[in-house]
Amino acid sequence: MKDKTAQLLAAREKLVQQMPHPSTVLPGSLLSRMVRCNKPGCRFCDKETGEGHGPIWILSVSLGNRQVRQVPIPVEMKKEVETSLRAFAQMQKLMKQIAAINLDLLKERKRQQ
Ligand SMILES: [Zn+2]
Repeated sequence: MKDKTAQLLAAREKLVQQMPHPSTVLPGSLLSRMVRCNKPGCRFCDKETGEGHGPIWILSVSLGNRQVRQVPIPVEMKKEVETSLRAFAQMQKLMKQIAAINLDLLKERKRQQ
């Protein structure tokens, strides 16, 4: 059915248009953590009432084989990193959807032979 192929091509094009530029993507997830300077008398690090300094931001990236790389992120770079993480997730999601459409297109092409 030619119609179905046209529909699939249109849907795929729509997804391709939503694709973030690959130059922006970053893997991993952003974690926050409080840190202790442990200087005597520091009110932030007081054992009872202090919560430590921060939060500091860490980009945690799984390298496989249970290895994780942790990269501290300066607060002024946090927004940019978050945008890049979202772009990566968006790209993966779109790739899966495009691949699924390509699979349907393949089936359609075989049917039309
Ligand atoms: Zn402190």
